[in-house]
Amino acid sequence: MNEGNLALVTGAGGFIGHHLVKRLVSQGWRVRGADLKRPEYERSHAEEFVVCDLRRADDCMEVCKDVVRIFHLAADMGGIGYITASHAEIAINNVLINAHVLAAAKAQGVARFLFSSSACIYPQHLQKDADVVPLREEDAFPADPEEGYGLEKLFAEKLCQYATEDYGLETRVVRFHNVYGPLGSYDGGREKAPAAICRKLALCADGGEIDIWGDGRQTRSFMYVDDCVEGILRIMDCDYGRPLNLGTDELVTIDQLVDIVAEIAGKRIVKRHDVSRPQGVRGRNSDNTRLLRTLGWEPRITLRQGCVPTYRWISEQLAATEPGASQAAD
Ligand code: NAD
Repeated sequence: MNEGNLALVTGAGGFIGHHLVKRLVSQGWRVRGADLKRPEYERSHAEEFVVCDLRRADDCMEVCKDVVRIFHLAADMGGIGYITASHAEIAINNVLINAHVLAAAKAQGVARFLFSSSACIYPQHLQKDADVVPLREEDAFPADPEEGYGLEKLFAEKLCQYATEDYGLETRVVRFHNVYGPLGSYDGGREKAPAAICRKLALCADGGEIDIWGDGRQTRSFMYVDDCVEGILRIMDCDYGRPLNLGTDELVTIDQLVDIVAEIAGKRIVKRHDVSRPQGVRGRNSDNTRLLRTLGWEPRITLRQGCVPTYRWISEQLAATEPGASQAAD
């Protein structure tokens, strides 16, 4: 088994991966980042950044060399519009990435492997009510996950379990619930609800109208990226090898999320609901009982607290790139 302090972050060019690299480096880890692309908005803090395609087995073997820990975050994913419309592409790409990274981890003698799963693995029939019962880890089976993305994540969770049972590879499985914050996608179709709403608010004049997907009464919980990174590090260090939720249990409707961002932006707006657009499950919340019992910790940054820096960052980006946006963003 490898020794030393070299960690691999796959998906290091992406939103959570980039934040995680910064944090690992600040803790004294040597970090190798791997991704199809470099981070969009800042240079990577990784000691080494390998631009590669993790669907390819040989690329995976190369980046796993001499690594002690793998934080596996690379995935083909995006907002609700993208994951609803691209089942085949997402499932094929992610099955290839996950199987090859895991096989390379085993072959290269990696000590610990963390897989970033998702709340999308949970049965859809448990998420039909906006006033949803928070999802517990044991609810995952009997399975009825979201098509494409959710089913592929659930399969990869199982791959981790089998790798532990058959190869003795230490694995950690983390089910993220809606992560948001600065330096994440905010346009182009891969952005999630908080970023999309911050963008719409920033571009909207005071008193203007914004489009909201669905009737606005669907519910979610949202986790600020700093809490996400903290949780990833704690879960990697702990002794618990079965899946854990990582999210907040602060349930809000999408309309409430819009109200929070509008208040931060200091704008009065009119909501125009578009029920023809995909809205995903009706309600989704995280039950943190197992997380708290395992770590004695849970995410603690409120949605309002986290939306302040997120809105600020997105409105600054827009002001710098979109002609005329700065006036609306003021
Ligand atoms: P992201 O899209 O910003 O980052 C994923 C990165 O993976 C991207 O930079 C992308 O280029 C890279 N990637 C995709 N295909 C690749 C390939 N073939 N080879 C190499 N790199 C490839 O997403 P994120 O929000 O940072 O999410 C990180 C992980 O967390 C993902 O596995 C995602 O499924 C999971 N997750 C995220 C959320 C969330 O709300 N952000 C929720 C649940 C789960």
